[in-house]
Amino acid sequence: MPSDNVPLLMSATNPNGWRLEELLSQLCVELEAKTALLVQDARPVAQGVAGNNRVIWRLLHDARLRQLSSLAALRQVGPDQGPTGTPRVGPGSEGFLTKADIERDLAEKTPPVDRSARVLTDGRPVTDDHREINPATGQQKAYVVLTAEERAKGFVRPVRRTYIHAGLNPTMNGIFLIKPGEHGCGARTTMGEALAETYARDPYFYSGTFCSSCKEHRPLEEFIWPDDGTVLGT
Ligand SMILES: [Zn+2]
Repeated sequence: MPSDNVPLLMSATNPNGWRLEELLSQLCVELEAKTALLVQDARPVAQGVAGNNRVIWRLLHDARLRQLSSLAALRQVGPDQGPTGTPRVGPGSEGFLTKADIERDLAEKTPPVDRSARVLTDGRPVTDDHREINPATGQQKAYVVLTAEERAKGFVRPVRRTYIHAGLNPTMNGIFLIKPGEHGCGARTTMGEALAETYARDPYFYSGTFCSSCKEHRPLEEFIWPDDGTVLGT
């Protein structure tokens, strides 16, 4: 009886383990043999199990093709040094970069932002009345953005048009929102290019933003970017 604590896959800590592609192959072979026996039994239950096995076989086969594609990509990086050698990607590999490294590098290459270079989304100079709320939409008459010239000096984050109202302390699975937290509704709001580019030029420019579903402005910390699950304003 196999113990569920014994790792199967080859790694630096389990150098004698299976290669994923070989394990998937082996599973396919064994599953085929089981299915070949099952199909001799004409009862519906046996046929049902055999049908499921065929689907599982196909999924395992697809998984193996995925793995072969990863291996091909890794060969482009360099030769395989085996489970105890230097990895080609991930921590310990040559050229390993964290998100923080990339952001620091971008910030160094980009001139500092001039927050006085501001204008309204409708192109007018910034006036006090732009904050007036349109009762029909809940939105301001206009929003302050960095000027096109200032935005053109370079971005320190990707330009992202859509954000999610995730609320405070949402339930996440990696980068994906599973359940909104306090005050959050889970809805997505899409904004115009000037606003999106202002976030990319200066992630700390705004302190709050609009949710199209709640129809109100909420603190930035309640919103996340869908592409990486990070909080707006970080
Ligand atoms: Zn909302």
